[in-house]
Amino acid sequence: MLDIQAIRSDFPILSRKIYGKDLVYLDNGATTQKPRCVVEKIEEGYYNVNANIHRGVHFLSQAATEAHEEARKTIQQFLNARHAHEIILTRGTTESINLIASSFTDACMNEGDEVILSVMEHHSNIVPWQIQAAKKGITLKVIPINEQGELCMDTYRSLFSERTRLVSVMHVSNVLGTVNPVKEMIDIAHQHDVPVLIDGAQSVPHIKVDVQDLDAEFYVFSAHKIYGPTGIGVLYGKEEWLDKLPPYQGGGEMIATVSFEKTTFNELPFKFEAGTPDYIGSTALAEALRYVNAIGLDNIAAYEDELLRYATEKLSAIEGLRIYGTSSHKSSVISFLVGNIHHYDMGMLLDRLGIAVRTGHHCAQPLMQHLGIEGTVRASFAFYNTKEEIDALAAGIVRVAGMF
Ligand code: PMP
Repeated sequence: MLDIQAIRSDFPILSRKIYGKDLVYLDNGATTQKPRCVVEKIEEGYYNVNANIHRGVHFLSQAATEAHEEARKTIQQFLNARHAHEIILTRGTTESINLIASSFTDACMNEGDEVILSVMEHHSNIVPWQIQAAKKGITLKVIPINEQGELCMDTYRSLFSERTRLVSVMHVSNVLGTVNPVKEMIDIAHQHDVPVLIDGAQSVPHIKVDVQDLDAEFYVFSAHKIYGPTGIGVLYGKEEWLDKLPPYQGGGEMIATVSFEKTTFNELPFKFEAGTPDYIGSTALAEALRYVNAIGLDNIAAYEDELLRYATEKLSAIEGLRIYGTSSHKSSVISFLVGNIHHYDMGMLLDRLGIAVRTGHHCAQPLMQHLGIEGTVRASFAFYNTKEEIDALAAGIVRVAGMF
């Protein structure tokens, strides 16, 4: 049993009032709130150990380097990666996917080669591939979904050809909440000798991820969605694959030697980390992961499942409310529309009641086109949410619906 009130007291923002009402923060799919320990870690970093890292001879530089590399080890353990140098620090999920799209396409794809994506992907797992497709003439193949918002696995199996070079799919949908069977999908891809990238932005905060057990070649996520700071994220890659790929950006840190005649690149992970790294962000992310570990991802998943079940029951009972994504494998997200009420109006009016939800296409326009809608209202949960907040959401929806 989690002590939710004690947990909530770790997040100062949760006691804020919005328009004089208690804040009900149900926009965790967009970003999560930060516990005090994470903010304090940032403050401590800048106040006590701030110095540029790597190659510094002085005390502070060495202390900052050590903290940064320790953070990398914490991330490695969190994902159960084999090596710390398989953890590349990026600006977030978006940059991680762009890195792979660019470097993988350069190294491993020719005109006519194929990448398999799914219709439920976030734009950040579509557009980077389209950019590469336009440059190199690669083809994108798309896994459709069924009525429940689950990937059609038979179609997935049939999309492989001798030109398939990569599968890139999300673990959990940030719109439908569907938990995709990624382990099985990776297994199928491997039967065709095809590597797999998993977008873990929406899964890592909610489900225990073990990259060795999944056997994913690449797994990416953003710190800000797992109670860490904005501006930093992770690309896990199997050593053998990262070794094969060329650097993404050039600059300081990522080189071994530079001359105008010839430059040689640094070893992993530095080859992919051009420029001054976010060494404050990395330590704050590690603090967030320690915080999550202390609560326990199994406890978090069980509690959030209970919240999702409760919310599904409560919202389903509201007249005219339709839920998008009805799989029995879901996590922490509930997308809906009510009657003919525009999602934007619903979101604006809920906001007036202090309830923060997201409205719109959630960076998944192809999914919206597939569903034949423009957008949804999305409530997305974290372990600091309560059933009382879901009651407030349900009451808010009923109240707003009554205005139309
Ligand atoms: N993929 C998914 C599934 C997401 O939910 C998000 C963020 N909402 C992203 C990718 C993009 O993450 P970021 O903007 O942090 O790079």
